[in-house]
Amino acid sequence: MSSVPVAVVTGSNKGIGFAIVRALCKQFPGDVYLTARDPGRGQEAVSKLQEEGLRALFHQLDIDDLQSIRALRDFLKEKYGGLNVLVNNAGIAFKVHDTTPFAVQAEVTLKTNFFGTRNVCTELLPLVKPYGRVVNVSSMVSSSALGGCSQELQQKFRSNTITEDELVELMTKFVDDTKKGVHEKEGWPNTAYGVSKIGVTVLSRIQARMLNEKRKDDHVLLNACCPGWVRTDMAGPKATKSPDEGAETPVYLALLPSDADGPHGQFLSNKTVRTW
Ligand code: NAP
Repeated sequence: MSSVPVAVVTGSNKGIGFAIVRALCKQFPGDVYLTARDPGRGQEAVSKLQEEGLRALFHQLDIDDLQSIRALRDFLKEKYGGLNVLVNNAGIAFKVHDTTPFAVQAEVTLKTNFFGTRNVCTELLPLVKPYGRVVNVSSMVSSSALGGCSQELQQKFRSNTITEDELVELMTKFVDDTKKGVHEKEGWPNTAYGVSKIGVTVLSRIQARMLNEKRKDDHVLLNACCPGWVRTDMAGPKATKSPDEGAETPVYLALLPSDADGPHGQFLSNKTVRTW
């Protein structure tokens, strides 16, 4: 078994994830795994980095597929006995003018952004080694969507005692409410992406709390962040940041030094803790 430190970035064949891998290849003292759901696109991205003189390793990972997540888990367990850095970056967003029915957009978006990310965490968090760092890429849109929720929902999402099961129930209810056409009446904002990212931010707060309760001595730091508005296939060419600039906050959180005791359980943008 290798004692080399290991970092894994989900959805990293392009966009911000690819830029996070690039930065980690330069700064992380160990093996860096670029992962992609499509091995062809993943290998191509690894080759691109190779041309820049950077060495990333590849492993397949589709966060919608539990078997794929478990295959990565088993690989990491066997080869490294765990992992040191996990960046949950993979995500999707329908374009603003997409005519797909809202209920379908809600189901598909929540499936990847919330449930897929949660499944990765369920399988990989127990493997994170002492002094490990976990970064969940959320969005400022989670904050604005929170502001668009009913007072009752806002209170639940800001609660310091909400459990993961309760969060899953709420995310499931959002999808069900969109199918029944009652999501606005039930206090939800009109954004599937926004609700999925509320899920990611709140999940991060819960996971950090669980780490405090169950593994305090392991000094693992886990945070959610917004990369900013970044020029990728998701956000388009008018966005203000380059992918490398978008990678800065996630990479800062992934590389928090071993003597840092925070941030932990926070939501950050531009390397600054934001009020949730
Ligand atoms: P992007 O260019 O569309 O890249 C998304 C990446 O996620 C791709 O590699 C994609 O793979 C992968 N992915 C999607 N579904 C997946 C799945 N089921 N399993 C594994 N990988 C999957 O988007 P981006 O702008 O870089 O976004 C990266 C993250 O930042 C997302 O979580 C996004 O919500 C967040 N974010 C972005 C912005 C922005 O302005 N760009 C702002 C705030 C937050 P394929 O190539 O196979 O599709």
